[in-house]
Amino acid sequence: MKTKFVFVTGGVLSSLGKGLSAAAIGAIMEARGLRVVNIKADPYLNVDPGTMSPYQHGEVFVTEDGAETDLDLGHYERFVSTTMNQRNSFTTGRVYRNVLDRERRGEYLGRTVQVIPHVTDEIKRLIQEGVDDADMCIVEVGGTVGDIEGLPFLEAIRQARADFGHENVCYIHVTPVFYIKAAGEMKTKPTQHSVKEILSTGIQPDILICRCEIPIPRDLRQKIASFCNVGVDDVISAHDVNNIYDLPVVFHEQGLDDRILRRFSFFAARPHMTRWEEYVHRARNPKHHVRIAIVGKYVHLVDTYKSLNEALAHGGAFNEAKVELRYVDSEELDITNAATLLGGCDAVLIPGGFGSRGTEGKIAAIRFARENAVPFFGICLGMQLAVVEFLRSVAGIAAHSSEFEPTAAHPTIHLMDAQRKVTDLGGTMRLGAFPCELAPQSRARAIYGTDSISERHRHRYEVNPAYHELLRTHGMTISGLSPDGLLVEMIELPSHPYFVACQFHPEFKSRPLSPHPLFSAFVKAAVDRQVRLGGGARADAALSAIEAK
Ligand code: GLN
Repeated sequence: MKTKFVFVTGGVLSSLGKGLSAAAIGAIMEARGLRVVNIKADPYLNVDPGTMSPYQHGEVFVTEDGAETDLDLGHYERFVSTTMNQRNSFTTGRVYRNVLDRERRGEYLGRTVQVIPHVTDEIKRLIQEGVDDADMCIVEVGGTVGDIEGLPFLEAIRQARADFGHENVCYIHVTPVFYIKAAGEMKTKPTQHSVKEILSTGIQPDILICRCEIPIPRDLRQKIASFCNVGVDDVISAHDVNNIYDLPVVFHEQGLDDRILRRFSFFAARPHMTRWEEYVHRARNPKHHVRIAIVGKYVHLVDTYKSLNEALAHGGAFNEAKVELRYVDSEELDITNAATLLGGCDAVLIPGGFGSRGTEGKIAAIRFARENAVPFFGICLGMQLAVVEFLRSVAGIAAHSSEFEPTAAHPTIHLMDAQRKVTDLGGTMRLGAFPCELAPQSRARAIYGTDSISERHRHRYEVNPAYHELLRTHGMTISGLSPDGLLVEMIELPSHPYFVACQFHPEFKSRPLSPHPLFSAFVKAAVDRQVRLGGGARADAALSAIEAK
């Protein structure tokens, strides 16, 4: 079968949930038995988002093959079972780099190199390169229609209809419909204008996905349809949902999958939506409610920890627990106020991070969790600091990471020799999937139910092998190691109800339909503790435990 292409553009403003829509379309198509792949084409000039500030760009999502990508790829992987890689996202920066490299190599044979056709051809080439053997490829174009920098992308996807075949291309445009509460009215004018705008590039949307606070009634969808040259059933109401995983069901109930397939004159099996429905049902009807503290630096920006938040939600649904996240700014935390800031929580999580700001606060939070038997989960920097805290408090040495104190007496977290050499050349991170062996009888081994795992990394520093023995003699189990035994991938404390940390980022691999075992186990530990302490008593219990010291 020839691959079908669905191009998703957005109008009027950003943050409409275009990425989620593209992901949810993937989910319903996959539920109909198609092999789906998603691609994100971003019009900014950075070659990849790896070095962009989380303040501006949200989380950097890491793929199996080590690409540092936009957080939308995380949505794709959570909704669609295909594993994304380097080829599933590209930016204008990458497009131009390829074109300019080719020009330098003389491959254009002295011709004038231009946006059309050379840049647009390269965009189409990159899209086709990402297709693999998928039945359907959903391409999300970043930015908003009308942006100057997005024009070459729109031109490329316009040409795609002729190049890939008229019957193989479907255009979906995502726009807002504003609900004016005071007047109790919905406003469709911005959608009309946005469709006019995209029409001026030569693209007639086949389907409109309209974002609105509340469901858009049929008469309004009819109005939009007649202004925008589509059928009323091609106007889909993407109203706010409590749970993002509702989206595939909401789309399917309105027949979006049928409309897309109709556009392709293509028949597919009836969809199996039950797994999505079951997930949402479980998430909506929790039996427990746990509060988890996330101690980090960018805590006021929820998108920074997108995959983490989702993974915790998946672990929550698995345990029939509502997971309430309490973000604690590590710069405000120290050992004197840890009990006040963390006392009301059922568990503590330290996520990954870079830069020294707030590290002592994170170390204080780890100490609080360790000493008070509060379930603890450390990820990447969270694991490194758990090692530092343990060696400081339990082994009594002046431990630190050489990332934060280059002249530390005990550089317990450091750059490995191989890594140090790469540093000089500029490329430094351990990125993407690496294998890990789990220790027999460890909690990690029990959680995973297997001896060997593979998880994704994004960091430079490692636990210094010179301290492995000291950690062990003081009672820390190194429960995960690289196959050569050099790199610490997981640690745990057997004397603690739940104290587990990992050097990798398990959140990148958690999916609603298959939650990551480390998150399921962590949420379960929080639930168990709460049940043990008895609901409301938890805050007081934790507080009095501190006061008693
Ligand atoms: N800053 C640490 C390192 O580079 C941890 C990185 C992370 O948490 N992702 O090793």
